[in-house]
Amino acid sequence: MATAATSFAELHRLHLALREVQQQLDRGPRQIRAREQLAAQAEADVAAKREELKTLRAAGERKSLELKTNEAKIEELKGKLNAAASNREYDIIRGQIDADTVANSVLQDEILEQLEKVDRVEKEIKEAEAEVEQKRAAATGFRERFEADSVGLSEQAEKLQAEIRGIESGLGGQVTEKYRRLVAAHGADALAPVENSVCGYCHVQITRQKQVQLNAGQVVFCSNCARLLYVSGK
Ligand SMILES: [Zn+2]
Repeated sequence: MATAATSFAELHRLHLALREVQQQLDRGPRQIRAREQLAAQAEADVAAKREELKTLRAAGERKSLELKTNEAKIEELKGKLNAAASNREYDIIRGQIDADTVANSVLQDEILEQLEKVDRVEKEIKEAEAEVEQKRAAATGFRERFEADSVGLSEQAEKLQAEIRGIESGLGGQVTEKYRRLVAAHGADALAPVENSVCGYCHVQITRQKQVQLNAGQVVFCSNCARLLYVSGK
């Protein structure tokens, strides 16, 4: 049992290292997905702005057409003005020409405003496209780095697992069963160092008797959190 107890410090170190490596391996794909989502969002922004531009241009074309129609109408009215049969008819036509002229002036302002909006949205599209490029490149770069790193990380994980198995095979039969159950439930937190008679996992003080047993190299579990204890530094 003495050899088993002193193996626990090393087992804990290996389990913690393995957990760190596995967390890095697990984190990678999530981080890649997050970056790809950012790029996809940027692409959706570009698409939305292109739609906006299309709508703006169509509205501008409609207003230009309306302006041309009104201008033709004014020219026609001017022709009728010269042929007016009475002062009353003349005044009516004159009034129509004035009203159409005001309407056209408003239309011209609106068309100018529309053109300014088109310019602004075109500029925004260019900026948004640059953002897509940048976000795609960031996602690709991250993916490539992770794929390169994950080879080494997987090798590290295998090496650590082999070392863990090596030490586990040296544990006593009864301890092994309890140890395995704890590892299945808590992973690397199945084990805890004891320092100044305090459990390193739950920070509750262990009894003097357990400290004596630990010092004697016996297998001891924390009465509070049930972790497998070992003397820190061994
Ligand atoms: Zn504890």
